[in-house]
Amino acid sequence: MSSLLDLARPDLLELEPYRHAAWEPTLERLHANENPWRAPGDNSAAGLNRYPEPLPLSLIRRLAALYGTVPERVLVGRGSDEAIDLLVRAFCRAGRDGVLVLPPTFGMYKVAALIQDARVEELVLTAEQGFAPTVDGVLARWRPEIKLVFLCSPNNPTGNDYDADVIVGIARQLAGKALVVVDEAYLEFARRPSLAPRQSDCPNLVVLRTLSKAYALAGARCGSVIADPQIIDLLKRIIPPYAIPSATTEAVEHALSPPHLVIARARVETLITERERLAGGLARTASVRRVYPSAANFLLVEFRDAARAFELLRAAGLLVRDVRHQPGLGECLRITIGEPRQNDRLLKALEDA
Ligand code: PMP
Repeated sequence: MSSLLDLARPDLLELEPYRHAAWEPTLERLHANENPWRAPGDNSAAGLNRYPEPLPLSLIRRLAALYGTVPERVLVGRGSDEAIDLLVRAFCRAGRDGVLVLPPTFGMYKVAALIQDARVEELVLTAEQGFAPTVDGVLARWRPEIKLVFLCSPNNPTGNDYDADVIVGIARQLAGKALVVVDEAYLEFARRPSLAPRQSDCPNLVVLRTLSKAYALAGARCGSVIADPQIIDLLKRIIPPYAIPSATTEAVEHALSPPHLVIARARVETLITERERLAGGLARTASVRRVYPSAANFLLVEFRDAARAFELLRAAGLLVRDVRHQPGLGECLRITIGEPRQNDRLLKALEDA
């Protein structure tokens, strides 16, 4: 197989990265034009007057352990949104290269590609096929200009989990031709192992993970790319300096301490139980036509009249996601699983109507 970097933008391989201020925590910092005093009320461990460690090593080690891989295969960024953006910018030449996306799916893959002026090829998945891709179906849509194939599993907003062997099969067939990026933002709700530990056997497979969902840190903005070290080194060249705020590193270390992990995992179990309870309740509601099976922390629900259901829930103080613009989801809303009392309120609002 050719080098993974043959797929990357050749100009970036030549790029001289920004030289950030040296990271030597034992010395007095008179080299980064920072303010010597903390802002009033700044109780952070590192001091927000200081730039953070450029690529925080302890955080990377911690996340590598959490995801069952090694630090050389991990890049941490501001959510998986930044990971998607970095991958598109690193692999797609504007106006020439492109990405393959499988709608209905998470919208950022397409938006990130369009921002980069990359082409977007779409393979629409249908409800009749259970929104599940096949190896042959994806291969048939691949063209030489497609450098990235985005697979979201469990998929947002349909909720289904792709067959792991299909994902790995696609990656193997596209070795030397494209990177296969599997976005596992909702993996923890799927009760199956992540593909991250399998990445080392499959060099063109890239796995995205996030702390935004199962670990309750959406506001901290912390996502990871798990990929071959050559790819990680390339992304490190283009990620903005000091990408991870020190407040984020401190919040993550706190949230991933052993007692807090126990709480996070118990809450995931509660959300899975609530998902099944809410799915059952919705299926018995007159305004609902269909509840799709979900391996995530949300449900895709087809209503008899989605516009009416949306407004009715809104009037009851409950905001859900309107996904009717996505192909094949004409009467669908996406409902995030909340606390039991919120799920009860949602069911009651629909039943009362
Ligand atoms: N991937 C998927 C499938 C998502 O649904 C989301 C957020 N809704 C993201 C990535 C972005 O997550 P993050 O908060 O890590 O940027």
